[in-house]
Amino acid sequence: MIGRRPRFTTIRQVDRRADIGDIARRELVLLPNKWLIFRCPCDTGHEVHLNMDVQRHPSWTLDPANISVRPSVIAAGPERRCHYFIVGGRVRACPDDRTTSEPQWRLWLRSLIATIR
Ligand SMILES: [Zn+2]
Repeated sequence: MIGRRPRFTTIRQVDRRADIGDIARRELVLLPNKWLIFRCPCDTGHEVHLNMDVQRHPSWTLDPANISVRPSVIAAGPERRCHYFIVGGRVRACPDDRTTSEPQWRLWLRSLIATIR
């Protein structure tokens, strides 16, 4: 799951959800202030929808300059558990379960440190 080369290389901005269409493997689809949608790097075929609306909780932020998402991405369900950071377009897996109960500020700090490195 962890690649050396950037997994995500493109940000495609759309105005309406109806405009999304097919999502390429390496792109993040941004509906400004609403959603960030992409194919999960676990490659089991599911999409991840991150809320970008700061009025709602939880919400994520995208740094478009270097394709980084904060805080870490968690897509958990009955059949899967995907947890990782997206930093510089790269996917960095979180050592799981131990970290999921971490407060958000620690996850944010962790991703910041990963960016600096
Ligand atoms: Zn996944």
